[in-house]
Amino acid sequence: MGMKHPVYMDHNASTAVLPAVRKAVARALEMTGNASSVHGAGRAARKVIEDARDRVAALVRARSADVVFTSGGTEANNLAIQGFEQRPGGALVLASAVEHTSVLKASPNIETIPVDREGVINLEALDMMLADAFSASRTHPVLVSVMLANNETGIIQPVSEVAAIAERHGALVHCDAVQAAGKIPVDITSLGVHMLSLSAHKIGGPAGIGSLVLAGDLANALNLSAVIKGGGQERGRRAGSENLPGIAGFGVAAEEALKNLPEFSNLAVRRDRIEEELGRYATTHVFGAGTSRLANTCCLTMPGVAAERQIIAFDLAGISLSAGAACSSGKVEPSHVLAAMGVAVDEADTAIRVSLGWNTTDQDINAFLAAWREIYDRAETATNDGVAA
Ligand code: PLP
Repeated sequence: MGMKHPVYMDHNASTAVLPAVRKAVARALEMTGNASSVHGAGRAARKVIEDARDRVAALVRARSADVVFTSGGTEANNLAIQGFEQRPGGALVLASAVEHTSVLKASPNIETIPVDREGVINLEALDMMLADAFSASRTHPVLVSVMLANNETGIIQPVSEVAAIAERHGALVHCDAVQAAGKIPVDITSLGVHMLSLSAHKIGGPAGIGSLVLAGDLANALNLSAVIKGGGQERGRRAGSENLPGIAGFGVAAEEALKNLPEFSNLAVRRDRIEEELGRYATTHVFGAGTSRLANTCCLTMPGVAAERQIIAFDLAGISLSAGAACSSGKVEPSHVLAAMGVAVDEADTAIRVSLGWNTTDQDINAFLAAWREIYDRAETATNDGVAA
């Protein structure tokens, strides 16, 4: 195939760090102070952190004081769920079946809310589960955790409707907005949720930094306890000396993401071209195509070709993408998201995720389309020749 220009189409796994972020991180690395120290160096570090806090707050229209920096989206989700559950007397957590594993595995006691075939949360089921949770036999406070956009399919959930239903029952709401922030407008107040998770490396910042954002006075009802205990940093909600370079980078990434929101939505043109051209070429299926999705994400099947084979073939062609979630083991495992949508294992096994980013070009799309057709044709020929495909 010759030398190929590398094509990165796995932006939902982690996106390229923005040049302005790189500079901010480098500047912060040159600083010495601990932000908790009262001397000048400490105060300078404190200023960098508070400036970044303002910018992260602005991304989701929250108050700066309600931004709790964490080591990433995973910790933010764990803090939301465990910090709520640890209250005296216990608590109940309901989460949609398509949540990220950092929500689903944050507690062994989570009850899952089903989704429909398009991957959208079943609001009637939620209503019934909440009615049951608050029936005479169960008196625990209840938290509902529903993501704003899914990492594997890009499907957007009706979070404000979830919040309205929860409010009617007296339940509180957490929203994992890790994939939505910087891709669609996010307003913590209009969503009506009590807390919201963010991660910097999905929006052009460094990995290893994120935030749990609280919803002002509304969040008092959470009685959230710290999960990482120690010093009084982050207003006692998350102990440990702050990750200054990470926070500085996150702040700049949040500012850029907010500025570039309109441009991001233009990626739908490139995404739709993929879906239209491949739809004409083969009987590929795009998950959640009939519902609202992120502009950059497409989860689609290549009939008869296992995702693992596709990923390797694409990689040989210089194209990086994932099968569903990029899991830490590096193995392709069946997607719990597609399973929850009622997708048969055979079909789910042929699904890959294409996720575009700010630096995706038309040439990248062309390279992907050419490689897809070649991989598909090769598999077809092998099957027709009776060779084990
Ligand atoms: N939530 C969602 C929806 C994600 O896609 C991810 C990233 O994979 C996370 C949470 C975890 O974020 P982080 O990688 O910062 O721990």
